Amino acid sequence: MLFGNVIGQHEIKRQLTKSARSGNIPHARMITGNEGTGKLAIAIAYARYLCCTDRSEEDSCGRCPSCIKFNKLVHPDLHFAFPIIKNDKKKKETCDDYLKEWREFVLKNPYFNYNRWLDFIDAGNSQGLIYTRESETIVHRLNLRAYESEYKTVIIWLPEKMHELCANNLLKMIEEPPANTIFLLVSEAPDMVLPTIRSRTQHLHVPPIDKEAIGEELKKLAGAGGQTFDQTDIKRLIRLARGSRIRLEELLENTDSSRESLELFKSIMRSGWERNIQKMRTNSDKFAAMGRERQKKFLSYANNFIRENFFFKLNLPEINYLNKEEIEFAEKFSEYINENNVISLIDEFTTAEQHIESNVNPKTVFFDLSLKTAILIKIKINHGHRI
Ligand SMILES: [Zn+2]
Repeated sequence: MLFGNVIGQHEIKRQLTKSARSGNIPHARMITGNEGTGKLAIAIAYARYLCCTDRSEEDSCGRCPSCIKFNKLVHPDLHFAFPIIKNDKKKKETCDDYLKEWREFVLKNPYFNYNRWLDFIDAGNSQGLIYTRESETIVHRLNLRAYESEYKTVIIWLPEKMHELCANNLLKMIEEPPANTIFLLVSEAPDMVLPTIRSRTQHLHVPPIDKEAIGEELKKLAGAGGQTFDQTDIKRLIRLARGSRIRLEELLENTDSSRESLELFKSIMRSGWERNIQKMRTNSDKFAAMGRERQKKFLSYANNFIRENFFFKLNLPEINYLNKEEIEFAEKFSEYINENNVISLIDEFTTAEQHIESNVNPKTVFFDLSLKTAILIKIKINHGHRI
């Protein structure tokens, strides 16, 4: 991971390289920002830059002994802590036990989020945590002398997932680390990090990736996946990605499934409008056959689509996130979404999502949802009471 591999973020790179070259290096930084903006990639590129023995003004050299170890994330002065699942059977209890998976995952693509990481380590329904034992490991390692490079770096990915004891144990170390030790806390929810830790770090906010860089990335990803888009679609995808490489990837993965979702959505709304119970049943069967992940995706798609239809009539191009087929449908359908039913409709789809999450029978969930929708879309704007 070089700065050159970080998508966009020129200002952040400039700030970090400048601070490193001036020798004015804060011993603890909290790197924050939304998911998919490149925080982890930036933290690794920065740690590498600090250790590189032949760096240029903009980047590490990529060839010195330190860089070669960073290529595989095996530098002995680079330490990671990240949420894990304790698995007694597989004897996986610490981050070290997951280091092989972690390196493989980060090296493949450093733009990922908590859920993708947990999926990768087969977490199932368990929640990932940075356990107390990690703080002991970190303290122990940092008390040893630096063996190779001038700096030791500890990258804590998602410090908000630290067990409270772990955070408390690290407090003193973060406040007064041994010489040439740098803490980089990469957080998506800094408000959930112990305030005493937060106040001991220098804050670096990573903004969404700029549109031009996202556009370049879109070309690369679409090219690799053999997908082609026209100019309108490109603009829409860039806007929808909202500066996140993760969202962009999801959008590209979902282009086919959105089509399927739109068809099902149309069908529910039509069966509701016609009060066609038989069609509602058929749709419920279709929904039940989709599998849980697709069901959740559909419900979240529908939720978003209802919201978009509410805004559709406002006709503001900058908030219109719909594609061609969706716009065609919205031309008429948006008439049925108004201030008297939009909240209730969104609530019903959200409830359905929660029910699917907690394993309620999908046929029942979907059938109920169809009935409620049928009633809700007939609610009209009450012009007499508009303010
Ligand atoms: Zn180097």
